[in-house]
Amino acid sequence: MIKYCERCGGTVTFRVPKGDNRERAVCDACGAIHYKNPLVVVGCVAERDGRILLCKRSIEPRYGHWTVPAGFMELGESLAEGAARETLEEACATVEIGHLFASIDVVDAGQVHLFFTGRLVSDFAPGEESLDCALFREDEIPWDDLAFSSGRYALRKYFEDRGENRGVHIHELRRAKLAASGESHDPPRPAATGDDRR
Ligand SMILES: [Zn+2]
Repeated sequence: MIKYCERCGGTVTFRVPKGDNRERAVCDACGAIHYKNPLVVVGCVAERDGRILLCKRSIEPRYGHWTVPAGFMELGESLAEGAARETLEEACATVEIGHLFASIDVVDAGQVHLFFTGRLVSDFAPGEESLDCALFREDEIPWDDLAFSSGRYALRKYFEDRGENRGVHIHELRRAKLAASGESHDPPRPAATGDDRR
């Protein structure tokens, strides 16, 4: 939770600014209002010869579990550039980005996860955030050992599409619904600090 103003360093108070309808961190000194809004996570389902590139995470959350390369979008890049960069960082792999095919609202975490198709056009190797990287056929995907529900959804839709562009599949993840279904949920994360990568 924010304690100091990003503009002047003054202390902040949580209150509803005039004309607004929810509490914001408002600077006591300069009046700056600090908004907190959902963050965008971008990922890439990269394929080569019918096999999909997955990474085994070397960081928390979900250390040791497999994931589609994905992470927080950075300022100054497009969605597609972010998806390609994350694949390069996590799997040292170059991809030709295809089309956007999945959008998942991870409501409790305050995130939107967007996934692109991609064609793997280089070798690959574990990056800093990965213990291992490997290619999996559909029947080899470690479904029970995937790190995130959003990635599981994206992979499922990817295989359903059979390589065709069938538009963007929209999905919503909420903790209450997942608890009812017995499925695990991505842990919610606190406000962005810039170093809390997924
Ligand atoms: Zn201030």
